[in-house]
Amino acid sequence: MTLVHLGLGTNLGDRPANLRAALDALVTIGTVAARSHVWETAPLYVTDQPAFLNMAVALETGLAPLDLLARLKAMEDGLGRVASVRYGPRLIDLDILLYGDVVMEGEVLTLPHPRLHERHFALAPLAEIAGECVHPVLAAGIGTLLERLPEAGDVRRLGPLS
Ligand code: AMP
Repeated sequence: MTLVHLGLGTNLGDRPANLRAALDALVTIGTVAARSHVWETAPLYVTDQPAFLNMAVALETGLAPLDLLARLKAMEDGLGRVASVRYGPRLIDLDILLYGDVVMEGEVLTLPHPRLHERHFALAPLAEIAGECVHPVLAAGIGTLLERLPEAGDVRRLGPLS
């Protein structure tokens, strides 16, 4: 079993319901060991779209990295995500932020997530549940990486998912 950390994001439809549906789906592939608060974040890259809700989840799973990715992609489809422009609006986005301390760079999967360290919307929730975890490539704690980011911008912590 490995402790992995996932990033959840949604900016279409009933956003809290999308997060809840994702959490319900995740229990079919592992045990949810921790979850962050829900954060509301302004969209990056493609800024003309609704704000996101983001959350981080720690999951104990026996799935190997590529199998985990395949299951997450199937969940995204099952939860109604349709292909959209890169960085565009989505019902649910499920990313593998950390897979234990595994480092890999492949065509379909890079671990840790290649943009984790530059994204406030990913680091802020993750730091709540894995602040002491060390990024295996950058050799710095998740909390430290968050502190190193320039001004947070439009990111605010809401409550726990009800
Ligand atoms: P997105 O549209 O942001 O969900 O892009 C997902 C694609 O990025 C997937 O189809 C994966 O092949 C690729 N990818 C690479 N590294 C990761 C990762 N650590 N977690 C999730 N997706 C990844």
